[in-house]
This record gives sequence, structure tokens and C-alpha cells, in this order.
Amino acid sequence: MARNGGVRQPVSVKRPGKATGTTNANVVNDASRVKTEQRIAVKRNARSIGQKLSQKAPLVAKSPKTKAAKLVVATIVLERLKAEYPDAHCELDYRNPFELLCATILSAQCTDVRVNMTTPALFLRYANASALAAAVPEDVEEIVRSTGFFRSKAKSLVGMARALVEQYGGNVPTGIPELVALPGVGRKTANVILGNAFDLNDGIVVDTHVQRLSRRLGLTREPDPIGIEKELMPLFPREDWALLSHLLIWHGRRVCFARKPACATCVLRDVCPSADTLR
Ligand code: SF4
Repeated sequence: MARNGGVRQPVSVKRPGKATGTTNANVVNDASRVKTEQRIAVKRNARSIGQKLSQKAPLVAKSPKTKAAKLVVATIVLERLKAEYPDAHCELDYRNPFELLCATILSAQCTDVRVNMTTPALFLRYANASALAAAVPEDVEEIVRSTGFFRSKAKSLVGMARALVEQYGGNVPTGIPELVALPGVGRKTANVILGNAFDLNDGIVVDTHVQRLSRRLGLTREPDPIGIEKELMPLFPREDWALLSHLLIWHGRRVCFARKPACATCVLRDVCPSADTLR
């Protein structure tokens, strides 16, 4: 690794002997310039990995390629978004793990706002897994119709509730293998439940916003959510995994839109390789 934490040194720093054959004044000027360049390089690098990441904007090389470079960007992204969205949280309404599981199943291909308009009636009629397990699927379909794909979602909800009753005494399990075995539950939903209902950081929720932003920020080039999750996990502290998803989702909904991201006002602009390239 290069000195100064990996900062690439100017050519003149590596070859000070190139001044041979010049006047003393030139040598002094070159030496002075080299020292200035060194100071700037060290200062820039110290800023980039320093303590005040969320306040001062370091210039990070575009398109991080190495894991070390991605770690720097990831650290800055996390700190900046924490400062930007101190209240970031799951935007689905729920009071317990069962309700969050139902809401997350309904959120597929649907907005959280629409789900939140639907779930009060669902939970009023089916307050727990036992009640939902005994439901007539057509009745559930009517309640969840506005969330789209209502037949398959109703089938998943009733099937999930029956599995909870039959295998877990009506409770929601706390392991990814058990969760993904439930009807209508994939890894993304399992991570939502564990991270939000149980405060367990076993994985990172990779939804459409997390996919888009992590690619735009150069943190991954993986094409699928499983690959993206694997690549993101070592870049962020485990205790922040659930929060990270909320932060990226909030930023994706408010600034880094799928079409026409608002790069001009984005707090990640100086570290984002995609800034101003997506008009
Ligand atoms: S600079 Fe633009 S593309 Fe990059 S994260 Fe911000 S809004 Fe998204």
C-alpha cells in the first residue's frame, strides 16, 4: 500500500531526483511544490477517512473500484444519510411482527401509502394469525384488492397464517430459513421482519431503491438483489444494516429518483460516480 493511507502520490514526489541539472532556485521551488502537494494529498486523504465525514465533503475518486475505496464511500454515504434523515424508519404501519409480516407481503408491487390504507381493515377483521388462518380467501381478497395482485396476496396471507399456527403456535419465527419457507415470504421480506420487528440484523433489505442507489453510488455492479446484499454487507457495520436500507429507501424516494434524480441538491453528489449523468 502507498504511504499516506493509499493516496496516489504525484509523479514529482516519487522522483525528486528529476531536478538534477536544474538551478538551485528551481530545486527549491520543486521541493516546495512537492511539499505542498504532499500536504494537500495527506489532508485530502485524512478528510476522506476522518472523523467528520458527514460535515466536510472529501473528494473521493469517482467509481470506487477497490474494496478500500468502496468502504470509504460507504462510510460517507451512511454518515451523510444519517444526518440527512435522522428519523428514517420503516414506512409501513404495524404494531407487532404479525402485522408487519402481512403489510410486507402486501407491499409487493405496491406503495407503502396504499398498504397503510388497506391494513387497518385487514387487522380489524383478522387480529392475529389464528383469525387469518381461518379466513375465507375471497373475503381477504376483497379487503386487499386495491394493493394489486390481490388473489395471490390473499392466498399468501392465509397460507402464511396457517403455517404460523401449525408450526409456530401463531408466532412469527425469527430465522431467515423459517421465514422464507412461509408462503409469500422471500429474503427481502424476511430481512424486513427481522430488522424491524425483532431488531435482528441478519441481512440487508434490497428493494428497488436499494438496488438503484447502491449501483449508482458504485458500491456494486451485481445484477440481482442477493448478489447486491452480499456485496453491501461487508461495507457497512452490521448494527446499521436495517437503518441503511431505510436511509437508501428514503433518499431514493426523496432525491435519487429512478427518473431524473435530483443530483444538484444531493448530499452524496461529490462521492457519487453517477452524479449529473442520469438526465
Ligand atoms: S448524486 Fe444523483 S445519482 Fe448520485 S445518489 Fe445523488 S441523486 Fe442519486
